[in-house]
Amino acid sequence: MTSPADAPQPERALVVTAHPDDVDFGAGGTIAQWTRSGIEVTYCIVTDGDAGGFDPGTPRSEIPRIRRAEQIAAAAVLGVSDVRYLGYRDGYLTASHDVRRDISRVIRQVRPERMLIQSPERNWERIPASHPDHLAAGEAAIFAIYPDARNPFAHTTLLDDEELEAWTVHDVWVMGAPTSNTYVDVSAEIDLKLAAILEHRSQVANPEEMTERVRGWLQRIAQEGQLEEGTYAECFNVVHIS
Ligand SMILES: [Zn+2]
Repeated sequence: MTSPADAPQPERALVVTAHPDDVDFGAGGTIAQWTRSGIEVTYCIVTDGDAGGFDPGTPRSEIPRIRRAEQIAAAAVLGVSDVRYLGYRDGYLTASHDVRRDISRVIRQVRPERMLIQSPERNWERIPASHPDHLAAGEAAIFAIYPDARNPFAHTTLLDDEELEAWTVHDVWVMGAPTSNTYVDVSAEIDLKLAAILEHRSQVANPEEMTERVRGWLQRIAQEGQLEEGTYAECFNVVHIS
């Protein structure tokens, strides 16, 4: 791994994404490395992904339940057992004060040293990574990291009613960003990552085609990061906030 932010290994990491499956596509291999090295990872999923899927035969009212269960199964593949949902509606997400407060609550509960979030900046080379909900979840997450969660005078009900003390996160890994400064070789974790992705059965119409697509995509990222020929990589913009 090459990184400008070689911070000490954290005890806890918190991942915030808009939809079930986002973390598996963007960072599944990296998460598998983190949990194997002993980092406790929590997922905070902002929407239920209720606008997703491909099968018109599945009742739409069933989608949130199905997708929550799929994300829990995918998390287990990567060594993650703590999956929390904020329950916002898929496709309608904005970086509102309510969303910022709800993410701040989870930050203060989990008290992570490291967070992994989606990019609030549009990536013109990979527009699907810049789904409007991803941009909004990324924006709300970075606002929650700075300044909300660390400021005891922000969202005062968290402290006054829930006794959640302010918490400062210094290390932030951003996925889907327009530029990346960190390429993680996930060749040893590619099978776990694919297994996690394929747990999202309601989203994957053709598992073989998806497997090939993800392999090709991770090889291109490895080339971009000038990793060895034939390796697979995930990329991030890692930032340190003092
Ligand atoms: Zn998504």
